[in-house]
Amino acid sequence: MSELSYPYEAPASQALFDRAAAVTPGGVNSPVRAFRAVGGTPRFMVSGTGPYLTDADGREYVDLVCSWGPMILGHAHPEVIAAVQDAVARGTSFGTPGEGEVALAEEMIARVAPLEQVRLVSSGTEATMSAIRLARGFTQRTKVIKFAGCYHGHVDSLLAAAGSGVATFALPDTPGVTGAQAGDTIVLPYNDLDAVREAFRAHPGEIACVITEASPGNMGVVPPGEGFNQGLKDLCSENGALYISDEVMTGFRTSRAGWFGVDGVVPDLMTFGKVMGGGFPAAAFGGRADVMAHLAPAGPVYQAGTLSGNPVATAAGLAQLRLLDDAAYAKVDAASKEIQGLVTDALTKEGVAHRLQTASNMFSVFFTDRPVRNYEDAKAQESFRFTAFFHAMLAHGVYLPPSSFESWFVSTAHDERAVQKIADALPTAARAAAEATA
Ligand code: PLP
Repeated sequence: MSELSYPYEAPASQALFDRAAAVTPGGVNSPVRAFRAVGGTPRFMVSGTGPYLTDADGREYVDLVCSWGPMILGHAHPEVIAAVQDAVARGTSFGTPGEGEVALAEEMIARVAPLEQVRLVSSGTEATMSAIRLARGFTQRTKVIKFAGCYHGHVDSLLAAAGSGVATFALPDTPGVTGAQAGDTIVLPYNDLDAVREAFRAHPGEIACVITEASPGNMGVVPPGEGFNQGLKDLCSENGALYISDEVMTGFRTSRAGWFGVDGVVPDLMTFGKVMGGGFPAAAFGGRADVMAHLAPAGPVYQAGTLSGNPVATAAGLAQLRLLDDAAYAKVDAASKEIQGLVTDALTKEGVAHRLQTASNMFSVFFTDRPVRNYEDAKAQESFRFTAFFHAMLAHGVYLPPSSFESWFVSTAHDERAVQKIADALPTAARAAAEATA
């Protein structure tokens, strides 16, 4: 550790983690934050500015997590903060309709052509849960197809990613989800249209919808193969099922119009979160007006929320979306490309077998020499190399997602200084990955 520029210990974070563990299961409010996949002390952050986070020990990190996607303009962007301050000063929640939620819905619809109507909610989980309920209510069918390695939040029926195999009926992934809740979920291998075709053949008239990440980032970045999303859409149309594109991660990140802006495949329903909330709890689902018309109070499918369309959250989201013009995406894309190149160069130089996979400005590194097309491929990587790489980067002041099954995120604020700091950290991290043993 002698050549590391930061001491590895993080006493203030450790003290907070100990306090947290006494009052919160595992010391965190969302499991991946606990660093269980990589070990060590989770860093408790106290502030963020632009591309940097500062932890409780006063150390600064270049942030390549960006709150798992939302902070595409960097932290504490002055115009977003001003919009939030303005909204907060007028009150934080009314439980009535307000103009901000209309404006946010209008902005989203103007950007994403298949969106005819949207309903605002507070988390991506709520968005996918509600979209599934609506799809079932609309089609009057029960079964749902999802793909192994795709994460759609902690919706009971979607917490199932049983092993590969055609039309495997899912077993729950977690205690607390019943066989009945998971039993209507069919889990299929990603990027395998034949498996989807076979599932429709095996369950005629039973499948309400196919839900897929528009371009998966929750098993690391595994983009859809050529024609995969269109194939899903076509199979859904042929079989009277709805195609739900989960854009919680990709929405307003991979382009102005999210992944739809990249592949142009028209879903029946879409889900959003992260970027559209500007760092606040705002999310949405939407799509075809004739389907959305089935939602209460217009239709019979119930869905509601005390804080849905919250005025502060919608102000933050709207301010962020309005700043995300073509120039902003060009900036994120360019910074992402530069960082991708640096990572590949450093690992190649140390002879570390790896695959850097991208989906527009989202990317991740798999420690394997084979292409990763699905969850089984992703699990075959040498994750122990990531652990060594992660800790060396952290020690040099670069904050990566603490798991090898996550996308890395870049913002418009990742400027030359931030990129240089990453470049400086990489040689040691690449060497650590090369020297790591299982
Ligand atoms: N869908 C996708 C594709 C996601 O990446 C996530 C979260 O990472 C969710 C849904 C759930 O969103 P939330 O964490 O806001 O509930």
